[in-house]
Amino acid sequence: MNNEPIYNVIGIGIGPFNLGLAALSHPIPELKTLFLDQRDGFDWHPGLMIDHVTLQTPFLCDCVSMADPTNPLSLLNYLKITGRLYQFFIRENFFVPRKEYNRYCQWVIEQLPQCRFSTQVVDIHYEDGLYHVSTVNTQTKEKTVFRTERLVLGTGTQPHIPSFIPKDDQRILHTSSYLYRKEELLSKGSKIAVIGSGQSAAEVFYDLLQSRDIKTELGWYSRPDRFFPMEYSKLTLELTSPDYVEYFYNRNPEAKKTILSKQQSQFKGINYDLINDIYDFIYDLTIDNADPNLKIIPNSQLNTVDNSRDNLINLEFTQLEQEIPYEQEADYLILGTGYRYHEPAFLENIQDRIKRDANGLFDVNRNYSIDHNGGEIYVLHAEVHTHSYISTDLGMAAYRNSSIINDILGREHYHIEKKIAFQDFDVEKYAQISTAQI
Ligand SMILES: Cc1cc2nc3c(=O)[nH]c(=O)nc-3n(C[C@H](O)[C@H](O)[C@H](O)COP(=O)(O)OP(=O)(O)OC[C@H]3O[C@@H](n4cnc5c(N)ncnc54)[C@H](O)[C@@H]3O)c2cc1C
Repeated sequence: MNNEPIYNVIGIGIGPFNLGLAALSHPIPELKTLFLDQRDGFDWHPGLMIDHVTLQTPFLCDCVSMADPTNPLSLLNYLKITGRLYQFFIRENFFVPRKEYNRYCQWVIEQLPQCRFSTQVVDIHYEDGLYHVSTVNTQTKEKTVFRTERLVLGTGTQPHIPSFIPKDDQRILHTSSYLYRKEELLSKGSKIAVIGSGQSAAEVFYDLLQSRDIKTELGWYSRPDRFFPMEYSKLTLELTSPDYVEYFYNRNPEAKKTILSKQQSQFKGINYDLINDIYDFIYDLTIDNADPNLKIIPNSQLNTVDNSRDNLINLEFTQLEQEIPYEQEADYLILGTGYRYHEPAFLENIQDRIKRDANGLFDVNRNYSIDHNGGEIYVLHAEVHTHSYISTDLGMAAYRNSSIINDILGREHYHIEKKIAFQDFDVEKYAQISTAQI
C-alpha cells in the first residue's frame, strides 16, 4: 500500500533550475509538487566556491524575480530579512557573491517543504497513466516509490574529462574539485598546469596565482588563439531573451548547430574583469623584472597525457597555428574542460515515452517537454541543441519555469514576455510585406 499522494509534478534534482520551479509553483495550490535530490542538502558547486567570486548574471536571476518580482522568495527579500539590504544598496553591484547566492538558495529551500534531500531517484516506470518514481534514501537506504502525472528532469550537467586523460590518477583533477584539493596542491605542487579557456579555469588559475609560493611554477594552456572574454555588450545580451529562444527554436537542426558553434564567446570565455585582474596581478609580480614563474600559452591543444612516471606528468601539446608539437611537465594537472549533460540512467524503463531526433538526442518540444504526448516529461538544462545556450543561463530560468507551469496549468498563470529585444532576430514579417508588395 503506497501512502504517498499522487503528485502533479515531481522534479528530479534540486539545482538552481528545479529550485526555481519549486519556488514558482509554491503559491499555486492546485499544483501538488515534490522535488527530490540525492545530495544531503543544497550546496552550489562547492569545489569552486572560491572566495570573492560572483555570479556572472545579475541578481535578478534568483529563483523567482524574473517571473514574479513580488514573490517573497526573491533575493531582495532574503537580503531584507537577513538585514543586508542597505549594504547591498550601497554596494551598487548587480553581481552577488556566489557564496551569498548559495546561502540564498538554502534559505529558499528552508521554506519549501516539498524539497526533499538524501533521496536518489534510481528508476522510473509508467503504469496506469502515472509515473512511478523509485527512490532510495541515501542515509537510511529506505526505498520509496512516488507517483506523479508529470516529471521535470533537473539533474544538471557533470564535469567533463576528455577520454584520452588517464583515469584514477590523483595528480589529475577537474576544476569542479579544486577547493577540496587546494591545500595539497599548494603544499606539494612544484609545477601546476591548468588547462582550459573558460571561467572555471581562469578562476582556478587566478586563485593559485594569488596563493602559491612563487617557487611553484604555474602554467595555463588554452586551445583558442587567445584568452577571450565572455561577451557582455547589451545588444549581445539581447540574445538572452524570449524572442531569441523563439527564433532559435524555429531554425532547422543544421542551422542550430552552426549558430551554436559561432556563439562561443557569448556563453563561454572568461569574465572581462577577471582577465584584467589576472594581468594586473602578474604585472605587480614582475616589478623590477622579477621572474613570475609562469607559463601562459594559448593556441595549445592538449593531445596526450603521459603519467607513467612517478613524479612528473608529461603533457603533449600542439601549437595549432604554428602546427608545432611541444611538451610540458607538471606534478598536478587541473582540467577546466567544462561540463556535459548525461541522460540519467533512471530513464531506462520509460525510453518508449521519450521523443528522439535523428541523432538520438531528446527531441525537445517548444514547451520543454520530451514525451510523445507533449506535456508529461519536461527538461531543464538539457535542451541547448533545441533551445540554444540560453538553456544553461540562470537569467532565463524563470522564463522556462513560467512556461512549464503555464503549460501544466493550461493557462497563463505567469505572464511571459514575448518580445523584449530592440532588435529583430526573425525577419519573416518583413519578407511577407515585401512579397505582398511585389
Ligand atoms: C562554478 C559554476 C558557476 C556558474 N555560475 C553561473 C552564473 O553565474 N550564471 C549562470 O547563468 N550560470 C552559471 N553556471 C551554469 C549553471 O547555471 C549551473 O551549472 C547550475 O548549477 C545549473 O543548475 P541545474 O539545476 O541544471 O543543475 P545542478 O546545479 O547541477 O543540480 C543538479 C542536481 O541534480 C541532482 N541529481 C542528479 N541525479 C539525481 C538523481 N538520480 N536523483 C536525485 N537527484 C539527482 C544532483 O545531486 C544535483 O543537486 C555556473 C556553473 C558552474 C559550474
